[in-house]
Amino acid sequence: MHHLTLAQLNEGLRARRFSSVELTRHFLARIERLNPTLNALITVTGEQALAQAQRADELLSSGEAGALAGLPLIHKDIFCTDGVLTTCGSRMLSNFVAPYDATIVEKLSQAGVVMLGKANMDEFAMGSSNETSWYGPVKNPWDLKKVPGGSSGGSAAAVAARLAPVATATDTGGSIRQPAALTGLTGLKPTYGRVSRYGMIAFASSLDQAGTLTFTAKDAAMVLRDMAGFDARDSTSVDTPVPDYVAELDKPLSGLKIGLLKEFFEGGLEESTAKLIREALQVYERLGAKLIEVSLPNLPLSVPTYYVVAPAECSSNLSRFDGVRFGYRAENPKDLLDLYKRSRGEGFGAEVKRRIMTGTYVLSAGYYDAYYLRAQKVRRLITDDFARAFQQVDVLMGPTSPTPAFDIGAKVDDPITMYLNDIYTIGANLAGLPAMSIPCGTVGGLPVGLQIIGPHFAEAKLLNVAHGYQNETLWHRDIPKGYE
Ligand code: GLN
Repeated sequence: MHHLTLAQLNEGLRARRFSSVELTRHFLARIERLNPTLNALITVTGEQALAQAQRADELLSSGEAGALAGLPLIHKDIFCTDGVLTTCGSRMLSNFVAPYDATIVEKLSQAGVVMLGKANMDEFAMGSSNETSWYGPVKNPWDLKKVPGGSSGGSAAAVAARLAPVATATDTGGSIRQPAALTGLTGLKPTYGRVSRYGMIAFASSLDQAGTLTFTAKDAAMVLRDMAGFDARDSTSVDTPVPDYVAELDKPLSGLKIGLLKEFFEGGLEESTAKLIREALQVYERLGAKLIEVSLPNLPLSVPTYYVVAPAECSSNLSRFDGVRFGYRAENPKDLLDLYKRSRGEGFGAEVKRRIMTGTYVLSAGYYDAYYLRAQKVRRLITDDFARAFQQVDVLMGPTSPTPAFDIGAKVDDPITMYLNDIYTIGANLAGLPAMSIPCGTVGGLPVGLQIIGPHFAEAKLLNVAHGYQNETLWHRDIPKGYE
């Protein structure tokens, strides 16, 4: 059963080939057997899952169930889940049981989804390798010595190892697309404002967006349909109708104008990855698409811009963790200041502290104009570059990550090299654009991802474009050895 896509599992449930309880037991057994090696899940919610599955089975027999009813899912541990430990990968929240559900958790559970557990992640979603987690690194099922990418590394490793057919994830600078690329999955980061951020623990509020990791674009379309939509509890949620993403999947791609990002094919891209991207583009040409080279001159500034804006926002967002209101508290404080200092000093890891310090610095009175304000101006230029490109083309394509998965430990002591891993993904976050990564081949047995970026709210188009490729290729069906 773990080979099947969500769409196939949905058919199986409806045809009574298996029940949701059977499906849930099957995945829980795989988690029990395989998770100790992978470290992909922080919490397994077996009992709750079986109760949800039972309810889904009742709904299914009543004939009133929606497309997601009875399907198992793992939530990234950044989403608040009522009554369930919600750690955000941090010691700071290692004792935090959320008192409410995030909007997407609520919506998916109303759709009948069964939550199997909560996925490991980089601490507060800061990282590209899942090595900053308080709960230890996650291993990539394609090669246990390699990282699964980050920050949604637990979500990605879990789905790639077939511990669940879908996991939620979040993308502030690439954390859905990069792990998707490194583990051979389909990752979808929707437009900023398309999916509610309520109950999603904030890292950089103007960049954070929730999405999915699945095997196929069709599965992503199924889940997004029920996840997206206006939420009055998120002030940046956009009130625009949610299209039926599944209905638009099969539109023909002839005449599609694909922009090739000149800046993405220059510099640090490995030739073996570049070759696979070119082959993927040929598939699109065969389907009748036209390739047009476009240049986004300000795009190379996206990494430095991001590493001013994101830390600035995180330094503010993370000030709420003071050892008083919730989460970790240092023992035997001498006085209030000592309580604050030691709770934060002991509760946060090194990367989180580095970001808080950078953020505090760029926002400080003497440096605000030189760094923060300047970064906001460059962010605007990057957004304008994208807007100009989309007057010419329907979607933009390029690599998701400059290299396939790297060794655990290879970049931990070198934050700059680690940050450069996000060079291709960050632009879409700065501009708030929807973007996907789909598997397009392997290098030395490790998956490589093709990135597709679209204009605001063009998720249906992105999914249609990704689905067209997956109809022609088999890369999305590859399963890592040992997890068949
Ligand atoms: N790797 C990037 C960072 O560390 C992106 C993280 C993310 O998208 N959550 O900030």
